[in-house]
Amino acid sequence: MRPVPRLVIFDCDGVLVDSEPIAMRVLIETIAAAGLDLAEAEGYERLLGRSLADIRVILQGDFGLVLDDVALEGMRARLYGAFRAELAPMAGIAAVLERLPVPFCVASSSQPERIEVSLRATGLWPHFAGRVFSATMVARGKPAPDLFLLAAERSGFAPAECLVVEDSPAGIESALAGGMSVAGFLGGTHARRPAHRAAVAARRPHHLFDEMSDLLTILAR
Ligand SMILES: [Mg+2]
Repeated sequence: MRPVPRLVIFDCDGVLVDSEPIAMRVLIETIAAAGLDLAEAEGYERLLGRSLADIRVILQGDFGLVLDDVALEGMRARLYGAFRAELAPMAGIAAVLERLPVPFCVASSSQPERIEVSLRATGLWPHFAGRVFSATMVARGKPAPDLFLLAAERSGFAPAECLVVEDSPAGIESALAGGMSVAGFLGGTHARRPAHRAAVAARRPHHLFDEMSDLLTILAR
């Protein structure tokens, strides 16, 4: 039996904020402008939950597409603009954060700047200021366990004491590889796709849930 969690580590995109449809739209537009027609389903399957640095490597290795620095900078500017205009917090997340019985932090594949833009745009920043861990802080991004292990260590908890809340197959693999409990969250707009739900379930997280408020029940078990 797993120990009762003493730290909750949230992924950001698709867990705290409903960002994946916006981010995928901007990414596919950027890729199209660089000359590759990538289907949305393939984008979700291959690129979800990974850092931009890793996405760049995958695009070059698997599709022969080079996204240069100018293209990436342009994409970031458009993405931040779209986040400020459209991004919504995940339904119910603010109430859950106020009632969580244990400390929590965020560990995301995104850059620190993007995490802050996302959390400020949705009013969640005060909950996480000073408790933000980004893939830029470790050598290997998700699905390697490095980022979650760093978040646990800096927060003062052993991996087995942590519950990770993740929406992506890569993120779930990352937490399991780190020896942590994992709750797979399927409440994001992008998680309505049956292929996504099947891919998440196939990674066998310890819990699967659709309503953010159910996280309080999972923690009380
Ligand atoms: Mg995510």
